[in-house]
Amino acid sequence: MAKIIDGKEIAAQIKQEVKQQVEDYKKEGITVCLAVIQVGEDPASCVYVRNKKRTCEDLGIKSLSYELEEETSEEKLLALIDELNEREDVDGILVQLPLPSHISEKKVIEAINPKKDVDGFHPMNAGALACGEEGFLPGTPAGVIEILKRSGVEIDGKECVVVGRSNIVGKPMAQLLLKENGTVTIAHSHSRNLPEITKRADILVVAVGKPKMITKEYVKPGAVVIDVGIHRNENNKLCGDVDFSDVSEIAGAITPVPGGVGPMTIAMLMKNCLESKRLSKKQAD
Ligand code: NDP
Repeated sequence: MAKIIDGKEIAAQIKQEVKQQVEDYKKEGITVCLAVIQVGEDPASCVYVRNKKRTCEDLGIKSLSYELEEETSEEKLLALIDELNEREDVDGILVQLPLPSHISEKKVIEAINPKKDVDGFHPMNAGALACGEEGFLPGTPAGVIEILKRSGVEIDGKECVVVGRSNIVGKPMAQLLLKENGTVTIAHSHSRNLPEITKRADILVVAVGKPKMITKEYVKPGAVVIDVGIHRNENNKLCGDVDFSDVSEIAGAITPVPGGVGPMTIAMLMKNCLESKRLSKKQAD
């Protein structure tokens, strides 16, 4: 049976580290602040936004909340982002996605000052990652790297396969594994004979968006399997892109859903807010 990697516990460690640093800043009279913007009332977005605000509160990070109506114009949203870009007291700006269809996500992401882009979605930050330069990393793939490192999984020289090539998970995931000296393969919906590719992996990261698609036929015995997917099954229970009970019979280690990658995303977002403060403070000093 596979070792179950406890993402919740690792996320708790990271949040504790952030909390400590936030407290230290407070002693110097410095407050870390995240602005969270939500447009409309998509139920999943409401849950995510609530969790982000609650985590800010738990860690002593100030959160500014902007809950805009579904009909809000793109112009109005861009004007708010401009205002927050200018505010010295705001360290991070997060616009919860997806946005209503009349608003261009691309324009909105590009409007955020890259120095406050704590989601790491701005092309400047994506480009920095691609060039191996410093920048904000998207929370989910950065969280996967933390999970691997803090679980003692060595990446250097390992065969790593990422299933999925989205801009927010798959692509940055592959680049981060490459940065850690993994030998990286990216698979996607046009890949032929997927099990043959995934079975090469010592570390298999699945971000395919298909419930329980990855069964043990896709996995090399002893591999480390990281499941990024989040879905609700027919009984309204959370499940991932990996068939957990099947794959855990042969994997060396595996992340569960819930309690695996999910909690890491918010923890890494909080870390990015802190990093934004550190960088702006360094510039001011
Ligand atoms: P996308 O739908 O944007 O991307 C899915 C990727 O999987 C695409 O690159 C697609 O290929 C590929 N794909 C689809 N079907 C197949 C297939 N049959 N074989 C091989 N590849 C395939 O999803 P995201 O990257 O945004 O998210 C992936 C999953 O992770 C989702 O379940 C999402 O809910 C979850 N998620 C979890 C987060 C967390 O905090 N834990 C955060 C973000 C996402 P192609 O490019 O060719 O279409």
